[in-house]
Amino acid sequence: MTETPAVLAEHGLCSQADPEAFFPERGMSAAYARQVCASCPVQLLCLNWALDNDERFGVWGGLTEHERRRIRRARAVEEPKSAPQPKAAPRGPVECGTRRGYHRHRSQGEPACDPCRHANAAADRRLRTTGSTLPAA
Ligand code: SF4
Ligand SMILES: [Zn+2]
Repeated sequence: MTETPAVLAEHGLCSQADPEAFFPERGMSAAYARQVCASCPVQLLCLNWALDNDERFGVWGGLTEHERRRIRRARAVEEPKSAPQPKAAPRGPVECGTRRGYHRHRSQGEPACDPCRHANAAADRRLRTTGSTLPAA
């Protein structure tokens, strides 16, 4: 399993927002997630990470999976398969052990793994006690 870069988890505004908003069900609006991403300091990094890793689920860097698919297709046309591909970060389907990982398991209709369940429970506890999902510094 590949972790998202620590910088996203540390500086991404979504770690303080409702993770469900970043995995809108079909037909639900992604407007709230986009708004959070728009003021996120690591938006570009996040978007590029999602594109490089073929991230299929959820809003990353302000774009939905549908929008990212269109960008990937356009990139595939610009960079024919024969051309040497820039080395992307290792691929991995889930960043486990995070609150987003937990919600992504759910959005894929699978049970969350232990690290994700623990991360989600810990974030919930922090939210109730400190008003933020971020760990105390
Ligand atoms: S750009 Fe959006 S999804 Fe990416 S880290 Fe920032 S808030 Fe989270
Ligand atoms: Zn997991």
